[in-house]
Amino acid sequence: MKIIYILIIFMIPVLLSSCAPQTSDVYPLKGNIDLTGVCYSKIVPLDGQWNFYWDILVDHKNLGKGQEWIEVPKSWEQLDYPVEGFATYHLEAKVEPGREYGIKLKNIPTAYNFYVDGKLQSSSGRVAAEKNESHSRFGSDIVVLSPESNKVDFILQVSSYSYYQAGITESILVGEPKMLHQYRDRRFSFFMLLSGIILIMSFYHLLFFLFRKKDLSYLYFGLAGFLVFLHALMEANKVYGLLFGHTSLQFDEKVQTVLLILVLPATLFSLYHIFKKTFSRMMLYFFSLASIIAAVGIVILPFGAENPVWPIFSIIIMLGIVFVLYVLIKNMIQKKLDAIIVLAGIILLILAIGNDFLIDYGYIYTPRLFYAGWTAFLLSISILIAKQFADSYRRTGILTGELNKKNVDLENAYHEIEQRVRARTKQLNDAKRKLQKANEVLKKDKRLFKSLSITDGLTDLYNHSHIIKLLSREVSRSQRYGSKFSVFMMDIDNFKAINDTYGHQVGDMVLKNLGTLMKNNLRESDIAGRYGGEEFLIIMPETEIVSALSIGERLRQNIENHHWEKSGLKITISGGMVEYDGKGGYEGILNTVDKLLYKAKKNGKNRIEKTL
Ligand code: GH3
Ligand code: MG
Ligand code: MG
Repeated sequence: MKIIYILIIFMIPVLLSSCAPQTSDVYPLKGNIDLTGVCYSKIVPLDGQWNFYWDILVDHKNLGKGQEWIEVPKSWEQLDYPVEGFATYHLEAKVEPGREYGIKLKNIPTAYNFYVDGKLQSSSGRVAAEKNESHSRFGSDIVVLSPESNKVDFILQVSSYSYYQAGITESILVGEPKMLHQYRDRRFSFFMLLSGIILIMSFYHLLFFLFRKKDLSYLYFGLAGFLVFLHALMEANKVYGLLFGHTSLQFDEKVQTVLLILVLPATLFSLYHIFKKTFSRMMLYFFSLASIIAAVGIVILPFGAENPVWPIFSIIIMLGIVFVLYVLIKNMIQKKLDAIIVLAGIILLILAIGNDFLIDYGYIYTPRLFYAGWTAFLLSISILIAKQFADSYRRTGILTGELNKKNVDLENAYHEIEQRVRARTKQLNDAKRKLQKANEVLKKDKRLFKSLSITDGLTDLYNHSHIIKLLSREVSRSQRYGSKFSVFMMDIDNFKAINDTYGHQVGDMVLKNLGTLMKNNLRESDIAGRYGGEEFLIIMPETEIVSALSIGERLRQNIENHHWEKSGLKITISGGMVEYDGKGGYEGILNTVDKLLYKAKKNGKNRIEKTL
């Protein structure tokens, strides 16, 4: 469906440009035409047999010599006359006296004089038998006449030099002057309209390129369109002399041809940038090089029938068209709508170019369609751009939708993660607190364990290993600082007997209570420990033997005088006291106090022996 719409849009310029006027079936035969019955609303092309005088410039008076008939419109070069030369055309017309007739002449290569009944009515350039006396120029004119008799002679003297065609190559039209003017104005307006469309579209493409420098296709299309527009301007100038006045035909033709040649590479470059994947770069360079060589050839060589550049380049154009068709069809097979759109435009352009080629070579005499074809082609590219933009807008819309949805999802996920992180942080903090608590417990346990490891369970005094450690430390301290300290070892007298008499439990009770007694009777700084079964060791730091003895004695007495709950129970101790003399290790001290203790036992127990 879409394609049909697109095709309809394409057809508009072509249909408009082929809007020819209503024509009648009246035509010249053997140099005569009858215009009397022609309706006022009709325009009659004087296409048919005219009298022809080759190599003679005939006037009204000497008509009739060397007469032959020639098919009009047709370049005489196609009828085997040399392209450069001069000739006279003659047509006798039956007319209605008093009625106004208009005769439209256009583009007669390369100079003409138009006489009606021997009177010069219109001319373009200078007609001459010699090339250097002639002056070539294209022109357009509408001659108005109101014949007094019922017969008029149309005489057209033509000379042609430096051009590839000659004579009446476009239809000469007869009709009501008003209608002819209207027809010409309409055609001219339409020509200007197409030029305007081409110019605007070129700017449109160039603007696109300015906004999207990456897309070189727009640049080249813009340039190609602009070249076509300049070509159209030159055409208007050639026929009407609108811009620069009438410039030389050579100059006009050269500029126009060069412009036309350059359209080919510009177009190919733009198509290359659209269909890069399937467009051979080699071919692009080949056509570009051929175009440049052709353009140089046109500039350097004189323009005319002998110039071989344009016929050769026509073949290059054909090859270019075939190549472009190949690329587009290849793309179309890959189901690319883009290719179909451009293909539609290109086909119309090809038809237009084909039409104009056929006109150039004298096969048909239809209106030229090149600009209309180009408008259709530019239109196809504009439609392509519009489609591509619409597509990208649609894609953007879809992507935006997806993006928004993703954003919402992302936000939700973010919130969820935030909540999870919060919960996890709380868990971690709880665990941390628990760990801290456990750590504290552990520390306490450790302390407890440590104290347990150095404490004697029964008496709550230091155990054997720890009291030895403390004694050794005190020895080191004394050796380093020269401090004095005393050591007291005591042993319960006859404890075996107590155990035997009262039992082990009472023995244990005695040991326990003795621990308490010792703690109560000793100073803060004194250190007491259980050395063995019922033997104890007391370290008195910073204490000389005299003070130590009084403390030991007081302890001994307090133990002796202690009132035990168990009736009849009496406990005494014997001890040995020594002051460290700064020599030897702790073993020496223990040895000494042990000996002193033994001495005290020997000397009757319940006493303390000391070193002298
Ligand atoms: P001596 O006056 O010569 O010291 O006589 P003793 O009976 O005290 O002599 P000895 O040192 O040979 O005996 C120590 C006794 O102490 C032996 C043991 O039954 C007792 N004993 C050692 N440790 C404990 C204990 O932890 N609890 C109790 N109930 N008795 C203990
Ligand atoms: Mg003992
Ligand atoms: Mg004992």
